Amino acid sequence: MLTVTEALDRILAYTKALGSEQVGLLDSLGRYLHSDIVADIDNPPFDNSAVDGFAVLSSDIRTASAQSPVTLRLLPPVFAGGGQSVAMTSGYCVRTMTGAPIPPGADAMVMIEDAAESAGNFIEFRLPANAGDNIRLRGNDVICGEVVLRSGSKVNSASISMLAAMGQSKVLCFRRPRVAVFSSGDELVGIDKTPEFGKIRDSNRYTLAAMVLSAGAELLSHETIPDSLEETIFQLELAVRDGADVIITSGGVSVGDRDYIKPAIEKLGELNLWRVSMKPGKPLAFGKIEKSLLFGLPGNPVSTQVTFELFVRPALHKMSGCQAPVRQSVYATLATDLERTPGRQEYIRCRLSTVNGQYVADPTGPQGSGALKSMVGANALIIVPSETEKMSINELVTVMPLDGFFD
Ligand code: AMP
Ligand code: MG
Repeated sequence: MLTVTEALDRILAYTKALGSEQVGLLDSLGRYLHSDIVADIDNPPFDNSAVDGFAVLSSDIRTASAQSPVTLRLLPPVFAGGGQSVAMTSGYCVRTMTGAPIPPGADAMVMIEDAAESAGNFIEFRLPANAGDNIRLRGNDVICGEVVLRSGSKVNSASISMLAAMGQSKVLCFRRPRVAVFSSGDELVGIDKTPEFGKIRDSNRYTLAAMVLSAGAELLSHETIPDSLEETIFQLELAVRDGADVIITSGGVSVGDRDYIKPAIEKLGELNLWRVSMKPGKPLAFGKIEKSLLFGLPGNPVSTQVTFELFVRPALHKMSGCQAPVRQSVYATLATDLERTPGRQEYIRCRLSTVNGQYVADPTGPQGSGALKSMVGANALIIVPSETEKMSINELVTVMPLDGFFD
């Protein structure tokens, strides 16, 4: 059986970033840039005022103090967006608003609060100023021609701000993976039904759909298939023909009499791995049918979610153009004692928080692979090495925060 690391390495070796497409600026949010973004103008584009105040020649008020104020004559004001003001010479000042161009000749801005109006169109200064005070110089942030965003970086609201400032109303991004989701099992009924004896609601169909969407991928479809080899083959072929970059199934991937996902992959394409030494999880099929990658995840709802986090999300991110390391983990102190059966690497649902600046990991309750409640409360997984039997309170453990923790 492969370890988690070996399985992930193998999966990522088969996973390539998809092609590019141009999208509207706001549609690029959450996607990965396909190429570097180069500034088309300086930022700021002209010298402008950082405050509402008075543009002055700093040499005029070098000696200004409360005891001997300096008085300067006021010229017509200049507002943001109002164009260029008159040129200024010694003895004058110009009321200049935040974002307005610095009047030619001025070399400092004095805040309104640090000056006083005096009779007859004069302003009184009681504090000295230095050249450059409160002036935002052209290009002090961005120089035209400079790379401001790198290919492979994820577009967040700060990137949108930069893209907008650089006139990028359309953005070249990596294409998002198109994903078809299937849950499988004769025991499954629609979530709007009250299950008869022996049946259960098909929650995985929605879990997987939600996880696909949360990974920024495009959900092509989400369907339920019965435990039938013919029907499984038919549905998988259909998804391949519909252009699914990725197909994800839940259930039917173990060694039960009616587990048909593995034989269906073997019939239609190639199976690259099956079974990983981990808990929850273990049965996990990965293969390829024509151009579609296929992940056969175990059916137990928590196994489905944990295997998605460990293998599918990183693969979807890589296909979407993400170049960041697959997953970050942190050290945390354990909030309780833990005992378990050694053998497989285990992922324990926990709540990760900070106490006095240190990470603390607190398990969220019973850890059965179908226990939904402890998953709902969790924001991270404690990684327990395969040979570990016992862990004690305050012991340092490795914890993998779930998606969104660092966002
Ligand atoms: P399987 O992997 O098909 O052997 O299923 C393992 C366990 O997960 C069984 O108890 C199933 O009833 C449960 N299960 C399988 N598919 C789903 C699903 N779509 N939603 C909820 N539970 C499921
Ligand atoms: Mg089943």
